[in-house]
Order: sequence, then structure tokens, then C-alpha cells
Amino acid sequence: MPVSYTRKQVTDWLGAHTVAKAHDYVNAVSDLRWIRNDTLGGLVQGTRPRPYDVRVYFHDIDEDMWVESECTCPVGSYCKHAAALLVAGLAHLPQPVSGVRQELVTWLEGFRAARTAPVTRSKKPATTKTTHALAYVIANLYRGGPEIFLYKARVGTDGRIRAFDDPWDNVENALVKPPKFVVEEDLPILRGLWLDRSGKYAGSFGLQGTTGATVLERLIATGRAFVSPMASPMHSGEPCALHAGSSLHGKIAWHSLPDTRVRPVLQTEPPATVLLTATQPCWYLDAQSGEAGPIDLPWSAMQLGEFLAMPSITLDEAALVGKVLQEVAPDLPLPPAHDVARVQVIDATPTPRLSLDTRTT
Ligand SMILES: [Zn+2]
Repeated sequence: MPVSYTRKQVTDWLGAHTVAKAHDYVNAVSDLRWIRNDTLGGLVQGTRPRPYDVRVYFHDIDEDMWVESECTCPVGSYCKHAAALLVAGLAHLPQPVSGVRQELVTWLEGFRAARTAPVTRSKKPATTKTTHALAYVIANLYRGGPEIFLYKARVGTDGRIRAFDDPWDNVENALVKPPKFVVEEDLPILRGLWLDRSGKYAGSFGLQGTTGATVLERLIATGRAFVSPMASPMHSGEPCALHAGSSLHGKIAWHSLPDTRVRPVLQTEPPATVLLTATQPCWYLDAQSGEAGPIDLPWSAMQLGEFLAMPSITLDEAALVGKVLQEVAPDLPLPPAHDVARVQVIDATPTPRLSLDTRTT
């Protein structure tokens, strides 16, 4: 693997003056190549008809690296052509092979800094008035369950969110260089959403597993999380601000479809507007009370997830499903079987109430 170096090192080696003069020659570099991994070679078109042949040799690569250069120009060494070759070579350096993404590197740096920094991290005085803040709107989509949508929202003088001005999803860049309306407490949330981006739509984010539950908890703690009572965040009515509530007891109910098939659904007592069944634990959000909290369930999240993925079943199939459940998962609720007692029988002869006839003229 060739030597890796930075623009700052090029300036240290050749001097700012030479690097500045090299600026016009960077595009005149051709045939740039690495020789034996420690020598950079190339041709640089100068003032003479024949391009200059330039070599830069790297020494002490492992620590305190330095370079020697050779050039066929009258100057001979440490010339602007060598500087131009080095600057052009920066673009040819291999990308990190480990594939560590920039946002992860940034997070690691931030994490390290937070751990090693002295405890004197004083809060900056709020001299500038914040006009915008990040708002998290959780909407229950028709398909694929609840998703999080981000908004750059307008903030009133009391610090509360007034209007959801613009949908915003520039999370990747914000992790590297946060815009002004993204504050410190948003960053771990955005990191969590980004690293586990399972959103079904561009600009939306899903929540899954224990990480999803942790992110959700942090998100609600910001006071800028909302639940949309409607299925689409675009026609969300008035999103309801969320706050932490007590945990609710959960149960499985059998939801009847118009074609008489049934499927298992999770319900809370009392019922809540949005249930997140992919997080661990599952969470509820209520668009009336604004409460949000975990759901108490006697089953593990994985067991529940597999169970809720059951396709809709007919009442005839319910007997078979019930039998299998009793065998392999006796603690899960059985589907309703044919229940004759619940069918209302009308034991009477129908009699007409409206008669139609042709009028004589
Ligand atoms: Zn030269």
C-alpha cells in the first residue's frame, strides 16, 4: 500500500511558498504513479516543451516521515514541480480499506473527547435566540408500521415548537457538521437513526430492537417529539407533543377483517394511537394524552414479532393454527375458533315491508 500523507505535510516538507507556486501546475501533472510503494513519480509540464520528470522519495514512513525530491528542471529538488506532484498525488491516495464511515469516525472522536475532557464543560450562555429546532414526528403509516420524520421547526419565544416548517433529512452531513438548529442532545439520536436506518421511505427512519427503544426514549426526552394521529405526516392534523408516561399492559387481540379472516394485533390497555412492535421493548404513543412508554408483555420481542407476522387466517385455518400454537408456544394466545354461540340466529320468516307496483293510467 502506498504511503499516506496529508496536504499539511506537503506544506511542511516544501514550504508554503513553493506549494503556492505549485498551484498552477497541479493540473499539468501526468503519468502519476507509485513506484515500490515509497516513491511517487510523474511528469509535470513546465515552461519548456518537454515535461519535467519528477520523483519524490518517502523516508521514515512509520514515524516523522520526510521526503526527498528529484526533478529534471533547473532547480532540481524541492521545487514547485515536486510540490505539484505531491498535491496531485493526494487525490490518488487509496480510500481507507477498512470502510469506516465518516460519521462513525466523527462519533468515535466525539465519544473519546467527551470521555477524556475535564468536567469543566461549561454550558455556553444562551446569547443568541434560537429560532428553529429539530422536531421528530412519528407517523403510523398504512404499510410498514410507524416511521420517524424530521422537521426543521420554528420555535416560539417560550422555546416551544410553533410550526413544522420544512421536512429535513440531511442527517449524514449533520453528523459531520451539525447545522445551528441541531443541538448536542440531538446528535446521539441522529446517530442512532442513521446507523440503523431501516426507513421504508426516503427521509423517514424506522426504530428497531433495543437500540430503537433507546433512541425513542432519548427522542421523547428532548420534548420535541410528536405523534401524528393520521397515517401520513403530510396530512397529520395537529401532531401531539409526547412526554414520558407509565408503561401499559399489552395483550394480543384478534382483529377481524371485512372478509371474516382474522389476524393477531397487539393492543394496550387502555388502547393507544401508535404501537411500535419492532422495538425491544415494544412502545406505545398516544395522540390524545401525549403519553409514551414501554409496553409490558409476557413474551419476548422476537417471539412477538414472529407471531404478529402471521398472515391473516380464516376461521377454518384457525383450528390448525391453534393446534400448532398449543404445541410449540402454549403461552401465546390462540385464535378464535368457530363459536356458534356468538352467531346471532334470526329464527323468523321474513315479511316484506315495502311493496312496489305499476300505477294504472
Ligand atoms: Zn522541478
